[in-house]
Amino acid sequence: MSDQNFDVVVLGGGSGGYAAALRASQLGMTVGLIEKSKVGGTCLHLGCIPTKALLHSAEVADVTRESAKYGVTSTFGGVDIAAVTAYREEVVASKYKGLQGLIKARGITTIEGEGRLVSPTSVQVGADLITGKNVVLATGSYSRSLPGLEIGGRVITSEQALELDFIPKKVVVLGGGVIGVEFSSVWKSWGSDVQIVEALPHLVPNEDVAISKQFERAFRKRGIAFSLGVRFQSVTQNDEGVVVTLEDGQTFEGELLLVAVGRGPSTANLGYEEVGITIDRGFVITNERLATNIPGVYAVGDIVPGLQLAHRGFQHGIFVAEEIAGLAPVVIDDINIPKVTYSDPEVASVGLSEAKAAEKYGADQISTYDYNLAGNGKSHIIGTSGSVKVIRVKEGPVVGVHMIGARVGELIGEAQLAVNWEAYPEDVATLIHAHPTQNEALGEAFLALAGKPLHAF
Ligand SMILES: Cc1cc2nc3c(=O)[nH]c(=O)nc-3n(C[C@H](O)[C@H](O)[C@H](O)COP(=O)(O)OP(=O)(O)OC[C@H]3O[C@@H](n4cnc5c(N)ncnc54)[C@H](O)[C@@H]3O)c2cc1C
Repeated sequence: MSDQNFDVVVLGGGSGGYAAALRASQLGMTVGLIEKSKVGGTCLHLGCIPTKALLHSAEVADVTRESAKYGVTSTFGGVDIAAVTAYREEVVASKYKGLQGLIKARGITTIEGEGRLVSPTSVQVGADLITGKNVVLATGSYSRSLPGLEIGGRVITSEQALELDFIPKKVVVLGGGVIGVEFSSVWKSWGSDVQIVEALPHLVPNEDVAISKQFERAFRKRGIAFSLGVRFQSVTQNDEGVVVTLEDGQTFEGELLLVAVGRGPSTANLGYEEVGITIDRGFVITNERLATNIPGVYAVGDIVPGLQLAHRGFQHGIFVAEEIAGLAPVVIDDINIPKVTYSDPEVASVGLSEAKAAEKYGADQISTYDYNLAGNGKSHIIGTSGSVKVIRVKEGPVVGVHMIGARVGELIGEAQLAVNWEAYPEDVATLIHAHPTQNEALGEAFLALAGKPLHAF
C-alpha cells in the first residue's frame, strides 16, 4: 500500500481528464492521473480516431471506384478488412504512444487501476489512497441502449462495430445521429446495404433542418436507406441475422443491428453519490465553471450534461486546471463549440441554427445567406456538392454557420472563430481567402451578408 498526495487528482484519462492533467502540470501543479484502461480514453481508442481511419479507408474505396471520372484508370478490387484493421490500429497505437510520452514528459504521475471517490479529496485505487487538494472527475461515457434492447450476438454497439473482422452484406443501424451515420457511411462505401432507423423526423437531427434535409438527399443518392419518425419496437436474432421491427409494423433484416442511440455517463458505483455529489440521470451536475456542489471537486467531459465531444472535453480540462490555478478562464457555451459529422458528405456547424437564432433574436432581426458549393471551384474539382449557410443578426455579428459537403469539416476552424469572436460579416468580408479553396465559400457568404456578393447572383 502506498498513499500519494497531489495538488490535483484526475479520475479518468480520456480527453477531458488528460487535458486537465496536462494543463495543471504546465501550471506547476503536481498531478495524479488515474486510469483503469488506456490514457486517451474513448476518443483515441474507441471513438474519434479509429472511426476517422475507417472513414478515410471508405473514402479511398469511393475514390478508387470513381477514379475514371478524373481520368485515372483503376480497378476496385475490394476491401481487405485485415489491412484496414492494421492501418487503424497503427494510427491509434502511434497517437497512444505520443500521448503517453507527453504525459510522462510533463511529469504527471499515471496511476493504473480503477478508482473510486471516497472523500471530497481522495480516490481509492486498490489498496492505495490517492489524495488531492482538488479532484477532477472525468470518467467519460459508455454506449447506451434502449430499455429492453439487449446488446449481444448480432446486436452490437460502436465498440464491436469498430472491431468487426468482416464487412456485413446488410446492416440495420438504429440511430441517425453522428455515430449512426458515420458507420452507415463507411459500410455503404465498403459495399454493404444499409438501413437506418431514426425515431426523430430527420437524420443528423441536432443540425439546422435545412442541412439535415440536404444530408438526407445525399444519403438517398448514395443508396443508404432510412426510415424517419418511427420508433424501434423489437429485434430478434438467429445464426443468419437479425430482424428489426418498428412500432408501425415495418420490418428490416440484416446481418447485424448497430445500436447507436447515444452515450450515457459513466458515473455509477464510483462513490460520487456517497460523497454527496449532485447527480441527475447519471450526469454530474456542475455550475458553469464546472464545479460540483462539493467544494474542490470538478467534473469534465461526457459526464457533464451537454455536447459529448472530445474537443469539449479538452476545453473543459484546460478550463478546470486554470480555474484551480486561479486564472479565471472564460466560459465557452456549448452552443459555440463546433460540431463535425465525418460521413460522406460531412456536416460541420457552430452556433445557432436558423430556427434557434429566430427564436432568440426574432425572425425579422436575423438574415441568412446560403452559398451553394456549386459556385465554388475547388468543390467542383473534388466532385462535391453542398452548401455553406451563415446566419447573422441584422447590423450585428455572425451567430451561426452550417455547412455540408465533402471536407467541410476542415472549414469549421474559421467558422468557429467568426462566431466566437462575434465577428460582423463586414469585418471578415474584407479578409482574403486563397483561391481556389473551399474556404472561399465562407468568404462568399460573408461578402453576401455584408451586401457585396462576388461570385453569387
Ligand atoms: C464511435 C465514436 C466516435 C466518436 N467520434 C468523435 C469525433 O469524431 N469527434 C469528437 O469530438 N468526439 C467523438 N466522439 C466522442 C468522444 O470520444 C468523447 O466525447 C470523449 O472521449 C469524451 O471524453 P471524456 O474524457 O469525457 O471521456 P472518455 O474519453 O470516455 O474517458 C474516460 C476515461 O476514464 C476512464 N475511467 C472510467 N472510470 C474509471 C475509474 N473508475 N477509474 C479509472 N479510470 C476510469 C476510462 O477508462 C476512460 O479512459 C466519439 C465517440 C464514439 C463512441
